Amino acid sequence: MIVMKFGGTSVGSAERVRGLGERVREHLPRKPAVVVSAFSGITDLLIRGARFALHRDPAAEAAVHELVTRHNQAIDELVPPGDVKSRLLAHVEAVAGELRILYTGVHYLEELTPRSLDAISAMGERLSCQIVAAALERLGLPARAFEARNILVTDDSFGRALPLMDQTQARVREMIVPFVEAGGVPVMGGFIGATRAGVTTTLGRGGSDWSAAILGSLLPAEEIQIWTDVDGMMTLDPRVFPGAKVIAEVSFDEAAELAYFGAKVLHPATIKPAVEKGIPVRILNSLNPGAPGTLITREARGTEGEPRAIAFKKGIAVILISQPRMLMAHGFVARVFEVFSLHRTPVDLIATSEVSISLTVDDPALVPNVQKDLMALGEVKVLANMAIVSVVGRGFVQRSGLAARIFHALRDVNVVMISFGASDVNVSCVVAEADAERAVKSLHREFFGESR
Ligand code: ASP
Ligand code: MG
Repeated sequence: MIVMKFGGTSVGSAERVRGLGERVREHLPRKPAVVVSAFSGITDLLIRGARFALHRDPAAEAAVHELVTRHNQAIDELVPPGDVKSRLLAHVEAVAGELRILYTGVHYLEELTPRSLDAISAMGERLSCQIVAAALERLGLPARAFEARNILVTDDSFGRALPLMDQTQARVREMIVPFVEAGGVPVMGGFIGATRAGVTTTLGRGGSDWSAAILGSLLPAEEIQIWTDVDGMMTLDPRVFPGAKVIAEVSFDEAAELAYFGAKVLHPATIKPAVEKGIPVRILNSLNPGAPGTLITREARGTEGEPRAIAFKKGIAVILISQPRMLMAHGFVARVFEVFSLHRTPVDLIATSEVSISLTVDDPALVPNVQKDLMALGEVKVLANMAIVSVVGRGFVQRSGLAARIFHALRDVNVVMISFGASDVNVSCVVAEADAERAVKSLHREFFGESR
């Protein structure tokens, strides 16, 4: 069994849904279970409508109207007149009716609780899973929609519900597994679930990858495919450097590291259930289905000590604290960290010398408060508009010559701070924001070459 998850852009239009059908057909021998997002833009639309309702803005009704139009149009294009089509149109009508009632409630109560918002934002997946299942059937595939709220059992932390794995396992075993084993293709909406009492919940924005990983870990699947609209994770942000390459294979740790730097392809925390069970996750492109994509595994194959990607993050502040009396003293570092803890300010990189500590903070708004308290401990300097530049990979510590190559590549850049070693998944330097792009391009050239 495999799980094939299709994001919003992969179910954005009738044409895309047909493409989705082709992908499913190609993988039919591997017994796929399909997880779908809402049609692209629909979750945003539902939430926007809720905000309108909260402010008693009549535009909420326009949101309902757009919801109906988008889905009816897809149905028109995908399903010929007949019973199935009538049933789908009635389903859209029913969901829209429910949405209107919820918006009216929000409007009159002037209150939008996380619980109400979950009921509202779940509607996109309730619609997409029925329409996609019908479209697949129409393409001759043995598909059937499974209502995610009957399968994915969660706690009641609305807006960011946590799956209850034992309960969900029981339902997957009872409903999904026999259907797949009999050759059927289940289609389930991602992102949504329900409490044991049946109250609708969501896993949080972007949560359908998590749904796919949960289902994949419970089936269990031999692979989880995340079909999106890019070729995979890249060796460098292609907006900065169009010659960046797709990373063929990456470990979970490295993927997590890249996510910190804003690699938005997928949030690694969401695939944790799969990684824990050793199930590989493959990122694939619906718009370029022949491309091999990026494979994420617990222990990516490939040469240990070879950089996997170059990443950077701007908007960093560096805080430098120096205290000559720290020489041979103890307790200083602890006092410095107490200040950060007191102000709930996360620290990313740290470097120390005998008499000074340098730290980075990626939310400059948090700096002033910290700075005031640190002044009691020593001399404090803050450098704003800095960037972290990182070489991401694993096994760096066992490898000689790497630091030399990094410094060589950065020979014309003013490096303010270096952090190397702790996690063994990256070497990070801090440079001025203005130097960041030059630095990452130079590093990319050193480790990945120039070619497209
Ligand atoms: N439709 C949901 C969202 O837009 C979940 C997802 O697409 O992953 O956040
Ligand atoms: Mg999405």
